[in-house]
Amino acid sequence: MSATATASKALSSPKRAFPLERTRNIGIAAHIDAGKTTLTERILFYTGMIHRLGEVHDGAATTDHMEQERERGITITSAAVTCSWKQLANEGVDTLFTGVDQRINIIDTPGHVDFTAEVERSLRVLDGAVVVFCGVAGVQPQSETVWRQASKYNVPRIVFVNKMDRVGADFARVVEDVRTKLNAPAAPVLIPIGAEDDLKGQIDVVNQKAIFYSDSDVLGSTYEIRELDGELKDQAELALAELTEKVADVDEQLAEKFLMEEVISANELKAAIRRATIANQFIPVAGGSAFKNKGVQALLDAVVDYLPSPIDIPAATGHDVDDLDKIVPVETDDNGEFVALAFKLWSDKFVGKLVFFRVYSGSISKGDVVFNPRTRKRERVGRLIQIQANEHKDVETCYSGDIAAMVGVKNAVTGDTLTLDKGNVLLEPPTFPEPVISMAIEPNTQADQEKLAKGLQRLSEEDPTFLVKTDEETGQTIISGMGELHLEIISDRLKREYKVDARSGKPQIAYRESIGAAANGEGKLVKQSGGRGQYGHVILNVAPRERGAGSTTADKTVGGSIPKEFMNAVF
Ligand code: GDP
Repeated sequence: MSATATASKALSSPKRAFPLERTRNIGIAAHIDAGKTTLTERILFYTGMIHRLGEVHDGAATTDHMEQERERGITITSAAVTCSWKQLANEGVDTLFTGVDQRINIIDTPGHVDFTAEVERSLRVLDGAVVVFCGVAGVQPQSETVWRQASKYNVPRIVFVNKMDRVGADFARVVEDVRTKLNAPAAPVLIPIGAEDDLKGQIDVVNQKAIFYSDSDVLGSTYEIRELDGELKDQAELALAELTEKVADVDEQLAEKFLMEEVISANELKAAIRRATIANQFIPVAGGSAFKNKGVQALLDAVVDYLPSPIDIPAATGHDVDDLDKIVPVETDDNGEFVALAFKLWSDKFVGKLVFFRVYSGSISKGDVVFNPRTRKRERVGRLIQIQANEHKDVETCYSGDIAAMVGVKNAVTGDTLTLDKGNVLLEPPTFPEPVISMAIEPNTQADQEKLAKGLQRLSEEDPTFLVKTDEETGQTIISGMGELHLEIISDRLKREYKVDARSGKPQIAYRESIGAAANGEGKLVKQSGGRGQYGHVILNVAPRERGAGSTTADKTVGGSIPKEFMNAVF
């Protein structure tokens, strides 16, 4: 669907603070350690969301608000942060939306393969992504996983080759990696000038200018635009020819001009790059160093220039509640029926349970009663909140394309569709991989049993790949997840957030079919490859989760309206 075709359908409410076309819902996806946290922090700094660098790594707030994340250096949570950006207005440098405030919602995606489900969940609700690679390590196997996930959801992407200040960083090699290992039609739009200690700035290929970031200003917020000369000029001209050709290969409008050898202006080329990127036929690549503050502002310009707004992408698909085989498009339209997807649950110390959601259509206001077609329950929305760095900002109304969190909705789990009134639509469900590892768990003191049960239940509600079961024969509580680290983090969170000291048995790799059998509700607990004998004894009951056909609660609450097979797919 073309951008203009959809745009004309989106009846933007005059009350919304930002027109939809000025909103970018993006994720920053990366292999662990590539610098996603540092880049996110810099983005929040340059957009004025935080006022001091180091806040993210201090664990004070923003996207890394869990203490253990700082310790482990892994961003586990998928917080959504809202910020705004005005493209840089510089003489001789064209951007497509110069001088107008743009809203960028950053949905944090975890980098570790154990949290693949979280990555998938975030990818479903965002419209575009910045994929970060390390300039030294290049494309690693785990980055390929993230890339494939983004392709599965047709997420338009920009690549940021980070750490160009490090010894051994090689921009051209990483671009080649992206082309060969990921089979992506990529070409540079922002090429690093200098490397390692001598990294100075970037060549803006489209505008044929050099951007030099200040070294004396440690925050890199000042920079200078210069004319290119000598070798840099030659390099920039070659890059421009390559970029134009690559984009013309996939964009008819540009191809016409290119073949006729007509002059192509910077903004004509940018518009073509935008079309090709949104159509998932081209990947713009930028290089720089988040840590050394070189290249982040130009990357933000590229995000606005090349990544889609919610109206530039095809309508989401939903299922008719009464006839699930019937697919209904959910058009981005403020005046349409309210349809949102809950993509992240979060327990906030001060506010309570937050349900992060993306509005696909319609609008919702504080005080409205939401309906959950899965549970058939109605609940009043007490507050609507947008996270702006470490601050919770109350909003009155959220419109189509918005990402926010609601307070007061206790019965939603990840993947639920939320509607108003009776709700006619279920959004296409995300699919999650089945857990691959299990272990028994018991509290160190009997008195903590109730706290453990409560903690496990909450954590399993938040995380669709974390399962809790009770062994019918021994009464042991068995937890299952995506890897050892995943289960370790669960134990840490139990300790920190629920004040439960628990000991666990040896993690066991579960046979796939036995996991399947358990999930299919055959009543038997997951069979372990090493047998249950190694667990030790636990006497504890944990309420069954409201998820999947294996859960009696889910079956009961849903009633007859949603077939079991469908529920299977949802969770
Ligand atoms: P994440 O795991 O992807 O979130 O990565 P982090 O942002 O936590 O970065 C991992 C490590 O790389 C940290 O020690 C950062 O300080 C460092 N780092 C991040 N970006 C850069 C960069 O541009 N240059 C250099 N030299 N180090 C960086």
